[in-house]
Amino acid sequence: MALGEFELISRYFSRPPARRDVLLGVGDDAALLDVPAGQALAAATDTLVEGRHFLPDAPPESVGHQALAVNLSDLAAMGAEPAWALLALSLPQPDTDWLDGFARGFHALAERVRLSLVGGNTVRGPRVVTVQVLGFVPAALALRRAGARPGDVLYASGTLGDAAAGLELLRAGRAADVDSPLVRRYRFAEPRLALGMALRGVASAAMDVSDGLLGDLDKLCTASGVGAIVHLEKLPLSPALRANFDAAQAERFALGGGDDYELVFTVPVAAAPELETSLGSTGRITRIGEIVTGHGVRCHRAGQTVEPGIAGYDHFAG
Ligand code: ADP
Ligand code: MG
Repeated sequence: MALGEFELISRYFSRPPARRDVLLGVGDDAALLDVPAGQALAAATDTLVEGRHFLPDAPPESVGHQALAVNLSDLAAMGAEPAWALLALSLPQPDTDWLDGFARGFHALAERVRLSLVGGNTVRGPRVVTVQVLGFVPAALALRRAGARPGDVLYASGTLGDAAAGLELLRAGRAADVDSPLVRRYRFAEPRLALGMALRGVASAAMDVSDGLLGDLDKLCTASGVGAIVHLEKLPLSPALRANFDAAQAERFALGGGDDYELVFTVPVAAAPELETSLGSTGRITRIGEIVTGHGVRCHRAGQTVEPGIAGYDHFAG
């Protein structure tokens, strides 16, 4: 690499850690981190491969954001508070324009959530970004996929289907769509960290929606040993989604589209009213259905079972 590996790391990724619990950050063989007493360490990792998880012409700032955001979404889904991250970067060449944007997107989100980048790895190869995040949650309060019970209320945060719609607009290639709020949702997903923490001790089960509501909800149901009913008319659809796509297509994006990074969670009926009033600024949540005995996810429209014909996205299917 023309820009040497060490120069690259020090220019883009070595920053004085903002957190006092970083005893040793970037620069040694391993970071040393001070885990608070009484908390469990929550750890998650996700890899983004160019051409598969981001488009080759994606703005580098959005790739930096997305690489961290998808991992923070996993912490949010556990009710965990983010603290640290590691970044493993494989790049074909040390392209400073790309690295400037990537680092800006990554650090902007990291600063906003008070997360310190404490180490990583930099190699030459196809463009692949792996981030590992570490955070805390008291073990007894962590939000798991298992724990939903028949009768629980099923909620989704924010709006669903926007990111998949944004990706569809990008694929269609109309220049005017690049500034659409749907494209922005796809490129700059907002991990629901405050909501995840607010759900500690309240939600009976939770997960984040990365691969599409129906497929992901099915995983929550399997883990909990229950079934779920989703009321299609209750799906939270954004004004932008409704304005750009017809009702059937909007519904397909909301049920099967990936990359929304909203939370789907269940709450015992008795706790639901208080949750709805207490959340306030933590963000919008919508009752989309309920947990039932049995297994699998069923869709209802006007109280009747309907077949939406959408499968969750599976990396190894087909
Ligand atoms: P080692 O050979 O011991 O694994 P390296 O020489 O690869 O260490 O890296 C030197 C230091 O820079 C280490 O502290 C490592 O964690 C950090 N580092 C390397 N690449 C990155 C990156 N992309 N982002 C953040 N830190 C990095
Ligand atoms: Mg070493």
